[in-house]
Amino acid sequence: MYKLNQKIENLLPYQPLISDFKIRLDANESFIEPDPSILNRIADAVREIKYNRYPDSSAGSACSAFAEFYGVQAKYVTAGNGSDELISIIVSSFLQKGETLLLTAPDFSMYSFYAHLAEVNAAVLNKGETLDITAQEIISAAKGQNARAVIFSTPCNPTSRGFNKSDIIKIVTELSDILVVVDEAYMDFCDTSILEDAHKYDNLIVLKTCSKFGFAAVRLGFAVAGDKITRALRAVKSPYNINTMTNLTGSIIFQNKDFLRAAIKKITAQRIKLSKALKSLSNKDITVFDSCANFVTVKMPGAADIYKGLLSRGIAVRNFGNYLRITAGTDYEHECLLNALKELL
Ligand SMILES: *Cc1c(COP(=O)(O)O)cnc(C)c1O
Repeated sequence: MYKLNQKIENLLPYQPLISDFKIRLDANESFIEPDPSILNRIADAVREIKYNRYPDSSAGSACSAFAEFYGVQAKYVTAGNGSDELISIIVSSFLQKGETLLLTAPDFSMYSFYAHLAEVNAAVLNKGETLDITAQEIISAAKGQNARAVIFSTPCNPTSRGFNKSDIIKIVTELSDILVVVDEAYMDFCDTSILEDAHKYDNLIVLKTCSKFGFAAVRLGFAVAGDKITRALRAVKSPYNINTMTNLTGSIIFQNKDFLRAAIKKITAQRIKLSKALKSLSNKDITVFDSCANFVTVKMPGAADIYKGLLSRGIAVRNFGNYLRITAGTDYEHECLLNALKELL
């Protein structure tokens, strides 16, 4: 009888919420759909593809357009099938079995999942009830645990808290012989990015994604790093990880700079509105964290029950411990959410 190995025998497929909720504020997607002009350009590009040929293994079109949009050089950019794929590649290739990856908690759940698959030892630095963590705590833990790499998101999913650029520089320079992976999935809604300087440090990878500003369906993420790491990333990724449709779609997305900037502005404005609305509940049991992402994190006793109550009203958010993570949506979605919360509280 064939037996699955121990590390995968009890794993289950990733289960996003699938029922038909009328309001989806659970996955940090954008509420904005692309302009018809963008959809037309994608349709034209997809018609012209040579379907009998392999894609460009460097995803050059998408990487160049990404690089131009963010003011970095394309030679420092590697594309992935979502930043998720890049996380998987980094954890399984830059660490060896039994080496230690430092994580913080709570943070993005896929880090520990890929560490498990790669048989990498995940050392977890817990944030307190305030969800804050300092650069110094990360530095001390990484050294104390003899970590080979550290990975965290800033702004952090799910806490919405972010580091200053000076914090990141401190972490990267003080941990100069440890790989530092800074996941900037939400940095478009914040202004403390290290992206432009990523190539200057030989132990830093900055991750980006198209998923939070309106293109989650495309599955396209990027790693920005200096020469040595970029060479290694390109060598270890699967050769044709980005298909031709994604490569061309990616280049069209980033060429539409005005659309992207406007979308990011609108999403940020809605996040500010959502924060204000949640604060206006003025319930002494509710703490609304200052956010610099496209979602708002709140702490409340009975968060799990509130979460279920919202679901039963057709409103999906995310629950972790005593907290809810609520994605910024439209005014109408916010209104439904707030009305439901008032009933439930
Ligand atoms: C959503 C998210 C990602 C995944 O991005 P994809 O490009 O969709 O794979 C990575 N990191 C964090 C922190 C996220 O929240």
